Amino acid sequence: MSIQPNMVAEHFCQQFDGQPEWIVRAPGRVNLIGEHTDYNDGFVMPLAIDRAIWIALRPRADRRVAVHSIDYNERQEFSLEDLTDEKAGWIEYLKGTAWSLMDAGHQLTGFEGIVVGDVPLGAGLSSSAALEMATARAFAVAGDLPWDPAVMAKLGQRAENRWIGVNCGIMDQLISAAGQADHALLIDCRSLETQPVPFPEGVAIVVLDTSTRRGLVDSAYNERRSQCESAAEFFKVKALRDVELDLFSQVGHDLDDVTQSRALHVITENERTLQAAEAMRRGELAALGVLMNKSHESLRDDYEVSSDALNAMVEAALAHEACYGARMTGAGFGGCAVALVRLDAADDFATKTEAAYKEATGHDPAIYVCRATNGAEVVSAQ
Ligand code: ADP
Ligand code: MG
Repeated sequence: MSIQPNMVAEHFCQQFDGQPEWIVRAPGRVNLIGEHTDYNDGFVMPLAIDRAIWIALRPRADRRVAVHSIDYNERQEFSLEDLTDEKAGWIEYLKGTAWSLMDAGHQLTGFEGIVVGDVPLGAGLSSSAALEMATARAFAVAGDLPWDPAVMAKLGQRAENRWIGVNCGIMDQLISAAGQADHALLIDCRSLETQPVPFPEGVAIVVLDTSTRRGLVDSAYNERRSQCESAAEFFKVKALRDVELDLFSQVGHDLDDVTQSRALHVITENERTLQAAEAMRRGELAALGVLMNKSHESLRDDYEVSSDALNAMVEAALAHEACYGARMTGAGFGGCAVALVRLDAADDFATKTEAAYKEATGHDPAIYVCRATNGAEVVSAQ
């Protein structure tokens, strides 16, 4: 069962005497389509999933933040007067978010609280962005700060980039802040404009964790980024988002083969993402599935960020008759795939895909049938 507000309040009562004043939650996410397009100023279409980080809190007057992590079974404290970076541990996400909010000029109120979550860690569902946005929501409600999801997402991203030291784009924090129940969000990563796109009835989003992780993701990621930058320079544009397929077809062959393939992925993926939003709005699930499959092929063959495990998972998913489409999701080399599946067959799909993947690879996968939920929100006030 997913985490419920009364369970969160109960945890608070056990750790601190009395009731929490507020309960907030911020979800993890999965990206339906639009991969490796964010740092090319392009389009992504993630959804906020029904797995989240929750904070129950009660403001305090002494500018201290005392938080008990239920999942780590550990209490940590810090003062808002004196933030120091200790380089490791879950509390750094709260500190980094506090730093980022204060650096942007917000006056923060301290609080005591508990944090608990069910976003699997390091699986590619962005538990870190969920924790940053839950923290931002907690400070916003405690200190009566204005809540603008896009502004807060940028401050969360800044915490992750500058305090944690992870070079992520804006997608994770923005979808965690601005997600909408039963919708994906088409995000223009240049303007940060978002458009909710409704899921048609009768469809499930299934996250398929390969249970494989690869260490070299960071260097491969940085390499892809610089290949994209040099392609953009070649086309004399700010980012690959500004290159149409026509222009690419006319002059792209002057690029070296590898850079050409990288650019081709980004340019076609941007088109697929916009087409996917259209297909979803029209309720054309088959068309949406085909676009997801093409996205996977492009990531596998042109961008070269898939892996044997991810390919095996996608193959296992597509073998089920209820699957409209499937693709790797996230940075790649391991982690998760995402599939679009007929809702009435989602459980059967999960069972059979798990068995087929295990048979093919010997790995034990984790499978999550998800719903699209709201972004960061105050769930209840006592
Ligand atoms: P992900 O891909 O899930 O974002 P990261 O390595 O970026 O993986 O972030 C995971 C980190 O976020 C954990 O190591 C922990 O510090 C923090 N975190 C995630 N979930 C929780 C939780 N439920 N409680 C406390 N900290 C959490
Ligand atoms: Mg993360």
